[in-house]
Amino acid sequence: MVVEPGLASRLALESGQPVQLCYQCGKCSSGCPMAGAMDYKPNEVMVLLQCGQLDAVLDSQAIWLCVGCETCGSRCPNGISIGRVMDVLREMGHGRALVDKARKIRLFHQEFLGSVRAHGRVHEPLMLARYKIKTGELFNDLNIGVRLFRKGKFHLLPARVRDRKKIRDIFRSAMARRPFTMDVAASADAPPPGVFADNSTTLKG
Ligand code: SF4
Ligand code: SF4
Repeated sequence: MVVEPGLASRLALESGQPVQLCYQCGKCSSGCPMAGAMDYKPNEVMVLLQCGQLDAVLDSQAIWLCVGCETCGSRCPNGISIGRVMDVLREMGHGRALVDKARKIRLFHQEFLGSVRAHGRVHEPLMLARYKIKTGELFNDLNIGVRLFRKGKFHLLPARVRDRKKIRDIFRSAMARRPFTMDVAASADAPPPGVFADNSTTLKG
C-alpha cells in the first residue's frame, strides 16, 4: 500500500477545497444521495485522502458515482464541496487501469466523453452500442432502447453542433492540464482524422 505524503494538500490546491479541514462529522455522507451505493462514503473519501491513500480512492466506485449535486458542500461546516474534489479525482483516475469494481462506470464515462469529443454532444445510440459491446452486455436493457427509439428519443445520426471548435478547445485545455486523463481517442466515437492528433495519447493500464 503506497502512502502519498501531502495528498490532501495537493487535492486542496487542485480542487480549491480545504480537504485538510475535514474532521469527520459525517454531515456530507448523511445527505449524499449516492452514499448508499458508494464503496467509500464521501467522508471516508476525505479521510483516505488525508491518510495519503490515493490508490484506494482512485480505484473506488465512489468517485464515479458522485453526481455533483453539491449537497455535501451545502452541509459541510467547513465549506468543503466534495463534489469538486471528486471532479479532480475523476480526472486523475480516468487513465488508470479499469479495475473490476469501477470498470463499468469508468467505461461509461470514457464512452460518454468520447462521444462528446467526436460530435460536440452525446450521440446516445453509438455511445451505448460501444458501451454494451465493451461490457459484453449487448442485450441488457434492449427493450428500453427500443421504446426510446420508438418515442423519437434516439436519433440515428449525430446532431450537428454549431461551434465544435469550442468543444475541441475544452478538450485540448483539459488534456494540456492532465495529458493522461482525457484519453478518449482510444475509446468511444473517435474524433475525425486530424482532429486532436496533436494531443492524442494512449490509455495507460
Ligand atoms: S456532490 Fe457527490 S459526494 Fe457530494 S452529496 Fe452530491 S453525490 Fe454526494
Ligand atoms: S461534512 Fe465536511 S467536515 Fe464533515 S465529514 Fe463531510 S467533509 Fe468532513
